[in-house]
Amino acid sequence: MPYQFIITELAGASSATLVCDCYVHQFGAIAVGRRVSLYPTDMTDAEWARVRVSMPAWLEGRGGRPEEHCHREMIDAVRYVVDNGVKWRAVPADSPWWRAVYDFFRRWCRHGCVRELYQRLRRVERERQGREAEPTAGIIDAQSVDGADTVGAGSRGCDGRKRHILTDTGGLLLEATVTPANVHDSKAAPALVEAFMTEPGRLLKLVRADSAYQCEALATAFAAHGVKAEIVRRSDGSRGFVVLARRWVVERTLGWLSRARRLNRDHERRPDHHVQMVWWAGLVTLTRRMARQRLHWPEYRPHRLDPAGLNTPPRSRTSQPRASSAYAG
Ligand SMILES: [Zn+2]
Repeated sequence: MPYQFIITELAGASSATLVCDCYVHQFGAIAVGRRVSLYPTDMTDAEWARVRVSMPAWLEGRGGRPEEHCHREMIDAVRYVVDNGVKWRAVPADSPWWRAVYDFFRRWCRHGCVRELYQRLRRVERERQGREAEPTAGIIDAQSVDGADTVGAGSRGCDGRKRHILTDTGGLLLEATVTPANVHDSKAAPALVEAFMTEPGRLLKLVRADSAYQCEALATAFAAHGVKAEIVRRSDGSRGFVVLARRWVVERTLGWLSRARRLNRDHERRPDHHVQMVWWAGLVTLTRRMARQRLHWPEYRPHRLDPAGLNTPPRSRTSQPRASSAYAG
């Protein structure tokens, strides 16, 4: 049958042809070879090179039973669930068993690994853009989503849940929390900023917000961390949708998150799993952006600045730095 023939071909290709350099393939208990990349959410080699050097080495030196599933395959499987919004049991058959993928997701949730990975990549991306790794200004906003019937009554408001995000001025995520939908934005903001500022090395000084955050208690809570709240208002008399200076960036980030179908509607029983889904969705967007990066004008087209071509080096298409072969612990 044609269907069986296709499955056999893919299984053979995945076990024999592709070599993986993930932590488990190097030091774990599995054979050489990984499955072939098939789905739009699978990381390209360029994406994997960036993820791999920033992955938290959560098992180094702690002993325990060696892992049995390729980290790259696991990350691809979770990305598939987040981007396509499928149930855990609907993880593709050529990925590791769904239960192993779900356990991997929960383990990363418990140890905060995906948030840590995103923060490392975010710092790398900011430095690539010529900015400081830690931002001094941020933007805050919230978005409500309907809850499916799997969302428990204890963690949902009348309609569902609300996700609160803090981004830098380029739209990269800095922090995310989830509350019941009936919690007002200004009530959730202090915990959001506190979660970000409690880690060492934070330099945040200014947070821009819309008029929903205009509240004396919020300003006081922000000031306790040395952060000033700036309210960006609509101009008087404006009607309908208006692009607010600076604040459109956070709206764009919420739009990026909504592309992940798992986030269109809240299916998570636990609020902390919803937060993890936000980080995973952000990770998909960020790694794609990092893998696409190339020199921009004028660097990419130096002849525009030097018509005679006297000082122009030969044009190179390999603008991306090579990934280090060592794990960053
Ligand atoms: Zn691997």
